[in-house]
Amino acid sequence: MTREEAPLEIQGADQIKEEKTADRGRSLDAIHLVLTYRCTNQCRHCFCFGAPGNRQVFSFAQVERYIEQIAKVPGIQWVFFEGGEPFVYFPLLSHGLRLAKQAGLQTAVVTNGYFITNARDFISYLRVFRDLKLDVLQISMDQLHHNRRLESIQARLVEAANRAGILCQFLGVSVPEPDEEPLEARRGSTIVDGQIVFRGRAAHGLERDQAKWLWSSFDECPHERLDDPYRVHVDMYGEVQVCQGISIGNMEQQKLVQILDQYVPSEHPIVGPLIEGGPAELITRYDVPHARGYADACHLCYSARRRLLDRFPHQLLPRFLYGGGAATEPGRSSGPEASGDARKQEVPEDAKKPEMIPEGS
Ligand code: SF4
Ligand code: SF4
Repeated sequence: MTREEAPLEIQGADQIKEEKTADRGRSLDAIHLVLTYRCTNQCRHCFCFGAPGNRQVFSFAQVERYIEQIAKVPGIQWVFFEGGEPFVYFPLLSHGLRLAKQAGLQTAVVTNGYFITNARDFISYLRVFRDLKLDVLQISMDQLHHNRRLESIQARLVEAANRAGILCQFLGVSVPEPDEEPLEARRGSTIVDGQIVFRGRAAHGLERDQAKWLWSSFDECPHERLDDPYRVHVDMYGEVQVCQGISIGNMEQQKLVQILDQYVPSEHPIVGPLIEGGPAELITRYDVPHARGYADACHLCYSARRRLLDRFPHQLLPRFLYGGGAATEPGRSSGPEASGDARKQEVPEDAKKPEMIPEGS
């Protein structure tokens, strides 16, 4: 399960962030390890093309190396384990959780909750999570995840988790209503609802029935603090991403601390324009062919980036996130260790053929 909805609110986080920013000049306090792109689901709105057939996954050695590096970066306090669905590779997940704790980091796991069959069994799972000293468990639950079944036991799950000392949150995305204004995000004590973002698989069909806005109106990035990220995602290809598919470096080639220290947002050929004028600036700066209307800022951003893949092959990574949902070959043939070069990633066939939205749609 990917973590796209509103950022986790952690008590005291603002104060911690201010202190860290003062110390180091940056706000980054969380690394999201995308343990795998494999998932039990294949949701239509998934921006990372999660699917049962995907085989990309961290190796144990890679998890060890990355957590060792993460722990050395001043200010980083949290490691989120997500996917895909991280529980698909539970031995790897539990190994990572243990290592992160040993390194003095706080831990969170984001899941679609596929393994939760009833509240009684969940208590048994909680014992395992408690032994792993898990701090936060985030469970996606909404119509698009096809797991509304959890609603009836949600309160019991949260209560049981609290008793085990684990913060349990339910995340959800709004279900899009064709031809209507995008829904507002809702926020509750244990439910955080966010809007769908139309990138990844969501930009390959789900966007068609959506209301569209003039492309030039998307003049800022609404979701990420690209100039001073509070989180970055790192996947098994080693790509350090300030937003999915926008790489600022590769951990197979450089230490994380070096990547972060060398990150100059204004000089990054994708991030720079996004900071200056949002996705619309990408279109203008690079003269990218475009349609008249887009479902949201991410839809325009993602569509433009797909057009720019060949022009910025070292920044628009991993290539997998620009595909049409096609899984790479089983095994580690597409992974960094097998290829010997994490940047030589296969590009799904349709990645070079961006789908244009008809004018006036
Ligand atoms: S959005 Fe759906 S397919 Fe994608 S990772 Fe989450 S549960 Fe899996
Ligand atoms: S506008 Fe672009 S950079 Fe910002 S969140 Fe959307 S896809 Fe990411």
